[in-house]
Amino acid sequence: MSLAISKVPTPINEPVRNYAPGSAERASLKATLGELSATQTEMPLVIAGKEVRTGKLGRAVMPHRHAHVLGEFHQGGAGEVQSAIDAALRVQKDWAGLPWEARASVFLKAADLLAGPYRDVLNAATMLGQSKTCHQAEIDSACELIDFFRFNVAFYEQVLREQPQSSPGMWNRLEHRPLEGFVFAVSPFNFTSIAGNLPTAPALCGNTVLWKPASTSVYSAHFLMQLFKEAGLPDGVINLVTGSGADIGNPVLASPHLAGIHFTGSTKVFHQMWRTVGDNIDTYKSYPRLVGETGGKDFIIAHPSADPVALTTAIVRGAFEYQGQKCSAASRVYVPSNIWPLIKDALVSQVDGIRMGDVADFSNFMGAVIDASSFRTQKAAIDEAKAASDADILVGGGYDDSEGYFVRPTIIVTTNPDYRTLRDELFGPVLTLHVYDENKWLETLDIVDRTSPYALTGAVFAQDRHAIEQAMDHLRNAAGNFYINDKPTGAVVGQQPFGGARASGTNDKAGSILNLLRWISPRSIKETFVPATRYAYPFMDDDRP
Ligand code: NAD
Repeated sequence: MSLAISKVPTPINEPVRNYAPGSAERASLKATLGELSATQTEMPLVIAGKEVRTGKLGRAVMPHRHAHVLGEFHQGGAGEVQSAIDAALRVQKDWAGLPWEARASVFLKAADLLAGPYRDVLNAATMLGQSKTCHQAEIDSACELIDFFRFNVAFYEQVLREQPQSSPGMWNRLEHRPLEGFVFAVSPFNFTSIAGNLPTAPALCGNTVLWKPASTSVYSAHFLMQLFKEAGLPDGVINLVTGSGADIGNPVLASPHLAGIHFTGSTKVFHQMWRTVGDNIDTYKSYPRLVGETGGKDFIIAHPSADPVALTTAIVRGAFEYQGQKCSAASRVYVPSNIWPLIKDALVSQVDGIRMGDVADFSNFMGAVIDASSFRTQKAAIDEAKAASDADILVGGGYDDSEGYFVRPTIIVTTNPDYRTLRDELFGPVLTLHVYDENKWLETLDIVDRTSPYALTGAVFAQDRHAIEQAMDHLRNAAGNFYINDKPTGAVVGQQPFGGARASGTNDKAGSILNLLRWISPRSIKETFVPATRYAYPFMDDDRP
């Protein structure tokens, strides 16, 4: 029962800790890194609040030291999927029936736990399991996820306040019901915050969820489930089912109770899921909501008026932080011929100077790429460029997977605006750069627009205001997140709602009210206070004298 119209706390973005030498936060994080590195963690599935062990084991390793096993995770299949769906459906009415403030409180508590006692463990797990530096982990697994929890509660309150007009004699209302059935949340390896947000955003709105994280991020997912439990999330609301994509995905998508998919990952996998949903459409009780944030080939285009120093910094940070494995990472750059001589040497020396290695050594700027498959993708692109007649390796080009999956930050320079790696997503620290004739600004904007099928993030560097407006106009549909004189990464919840269109997804803007609207199915209610008692209308009355 709710006997108040509650006002939620105003969300404020979580401050980023800097982990400077000598700080208490640095000492505490290092101690947790040491503890986790020295422990073998067993990671069960969690269904209806119970730990489930299948004995079919996968290994969580450190990408930067792949011989170091952090622990083993149990993998499910069709049987565990069915149990998880049953659990989700069983508790749905009770969970949705709680006052909305009760559901909101669970996630506000999760935010405070993560800001406090869980911060180190989630940051350390993300560093070790996904090879993030402490700064990259802090802005992801701590700050962004805390922001998702707190801002989503505020957005949800706005959703509930959305109500229609009422004419005299009646009261019209909108009830923001959760979807009927369960939601399938499928998360990628690269952001712990996304992994945390995909199941919790629908859950906040009263849905129950089957959550499948990427196998390369089960380690941090394991600690997220502990966080949810401690925050008071009732059993069965979010069920963690780990395993291979198809082993879990196929039985889930066959369920008649599938109400929605909250996916982030590659375009290829989302296409496959959409196709399967289409094939199964006759079996579903409702049309499943399909929300997918997918791949990118994010650009930086510089105008002849660009500031060369700001441009250089944006390229280095935008392309190589977290080894280029941010969906928003700059992966193609277009530089005018007048600016190229001004940035070339600085780019080479800065990229050459990037320190790469074990993320527990805080002096490193980069760790390793996530796994052997990604290593092969980067290596193939580098080898291809070395052999190509229309491309050169400007800097980088080294790789070594003997200890960890290390790929040196690499810039390929190509004279060919249709070169393959200006088009295809590599999702690693390999950037492709094209120098264009400074007199061909408008033509180059068109090339940027049409070269790749994606449209996630993009940036323009220019001091000339007309040029900025031209880029805004020509590239209107080339990026869902557009930056002016800034790198195309680093979107903040509540400030730059995130997502792209074309092959980059359904653009349902994580971290905004627009995303939550996908997890509700409103019911319109009209109540008439004094109902009509006669079927005939006045125009039918006899008007003969
Ligand atoms: P991926 O597509 O390989 O995997 C994503 C998830 O899908 C994983 O949990 C995986 O196990 C699962 N999966 C695979 N096959 C499946 C199937 N048949 N049925 C159900 N689930 C299945 O992606 P990834 O390598 O983990 O992440 C990198 C990709 O994610 C990149 O393409 C990147 O651009 C994209 N990404 C996009 C955004 C965004 O906001 N647009 C954010 C982060 C990552």
